Amino acid sequence: MTKPRLLLFDIDGTLLDTRGSGAGALLDAVEDVFGVPRDSLPPLDLAGATDGGVVRKLFNDAGLPMTEERAQAYRDSYLGHLKRRLHSDAFAGRLLPAITELLDALGQHDHVHLGLLTGNLRTGAGYKLSRFQIDHHFIDGAFGDDAEERNLLGPIAVERLAKARGHGFEIEEVIVIGDTPKDIACANALGARCLAVATGAFGVDHLSPHRPWQLLADFAETQRVVELLVG
Ligand SMILES: [Mg+2]
Repeated sequence: MTKPRLLLFDIDGTLLDTRGSGAGALLDAVEDVFGVPRDSLPPLDLAGATDGGVVRKLFNDAGLPMTEERAQAYRDSYLGHLKRRLHSDAFAGRLLPAITELLDALGQHDHVHLGLLTGNLRTGAGYKLSRFQIDHHFIDGAFGDDAEERNLLGPIAVERLAKARGHGFEIEEVIVIGDTPKDIACANALGARCLAVATGAFGVDHLSPHRPWQLLADFAETQRVVELLVG
């Protein structure tokens, strides 16, 4: 019998590109909740970051104490702006090449289970995926609300998926799919393989030195990607 396979997908730069809507919403919330202009803070470095970590850094940069109440107000404001931006007429985001084809093809394999391993807040992840109608492919996952440190998210994702499916996954059968060196490090911390894809902020030349199990320029060749992920 084929062993169950678990594929844990990152979102931004891996499945889709919001074309700055996520970063824009984070800064909208800075203006709303902190009451300071967006360009008064240092530039955001979001690649591979978790939203929890980003929120802590923003409070730090603004010199404001982060109480749980204020952090909640910030998250609520961010999520409201994110939703608005994702559905605005000016939204220019897109799915990355052949993502729909890839998710549909993976769905044909009964032993393959899809989850999320993302720094997005759970609610924000849902907004982004449902904007492109791909949310139904994913059973559950680990999110930016679970830990500020990305490397802590892997075991949480595996445990949630095992619980949702009613069976465990051998670590050899887990593959993390992401677009940044932090995704590769996160796979290493979990003891899982990483398929890295250069559709985000990092090119092949920048990802290669981090030695992922596999490295692709993009997912355009669906059949080849499926063979790697399923075989
Ligand atoms: Mg990413």
